[in-house]
Amino acid sequence: MQHLVDTDQLSLEQIFAILEDARRFKEKLPPPLLRDRVLMTLFFEASTRTRSSFEVAAKRLGAHVVHLDPTRSSTKKGETLEDTFANLCAMDPDGVIIRHSENDTPSRLAEMELVPVINAGAGNYAHPTQALLDLFTLWEWFDGEVEGLRVAIVGDIVNSRVAASDIRLFRRFGIELSLVAPKPFMPITNLPQYEKIEEIIDEVDVIMSLRAQLERHKKPIFDDYEEYARHYCVTEDLLDDRSVMVMHPGPVMRNIDISDEILDDPRSLVLDQVRNGVYVRMAVLKLLLLDSREGTES
Ligand code: ASP
Repeated sequence: MQHLVDTDQLSLEQIFAILEDARRFKEKLPPPLLRDRVLMTLFFEASTRTRSSFEVAAKRLGAHVVHLDPTRSSTKKGETLEDTFANLCAMDPDGVIIRHSENDTPSRLAEMELVPVINAGAGNYAHPTQALLDLFTLWEWFDGEVEGLRVAIVGDIVNSRVAASDIRLFRRFGIELSLVAPKPFMPITNLPQYEKIEEIIDEVDVIMSLRAQLERHKKPIFDDYEEYARHYCVTEDLLDDRSVMVMHPGPVMRNIDISDEILDDPRSLVLDQVRNGVYVRMAVLKLLLLDSREGTES
């Protein structure tokens, strides 16, 4: 049984299969490869893009999606998460997609080996499908030539599961990473670190901007995010006429992470990331629910 807790569980061959499938699906929607399969979603944290993207992806493949609203579920009545999960699995879903504030929740549930578990975001540890769609967006934009690409990750890196997953995945593809953040947002790392974007703006091909993860801060880190924006917001002034592409996993805090003008600028790939997310998630569902089960079911 194959799970997706983070992308290090995937071989390079599987990652290339995901990229290729996503590319094909974007060109032409496939037949309903997962007709009548049932997926359950279990989102313990807010989500706009990821949950709906999984749902669209599943439906494009002919699968059904059942959403459990954890704020109304029995975990609220004292049932353990493992028991809730085991009860859901007793209904024989084909996969469970989970988002949780704890880093190890998806791996704990995956270890129960009841059903393929797909991590849709866990604490500040991992968000594998976001990393895959980010890689796909780069791979598509740069015509498959991602090795040696220079990507600066900017913002609240230490609290970002997107940054954590991107860093682990991008390194496997030879992407050169730099981290740009004020000290409280900088993780302990051996990657090149900068405090200001201006220091490296001439040496990057892509800026990956991140939102300040306010919900993960135990106490407020900055009183004034406008002051933070003066140094970290991606603006027209900063980019000037450079051909630097701009990405962001969303939700974007306008004029704090990225300015209004740059969000509308052709250099922004933010909506391409969202669009690509559906095809990448279709490819992930195909891999986990179809391809990797083929050998085990006969
Ligand atoms: N949507 C992404 C996540 O769930 C990024 C963010 O929330 O800032 O981690």
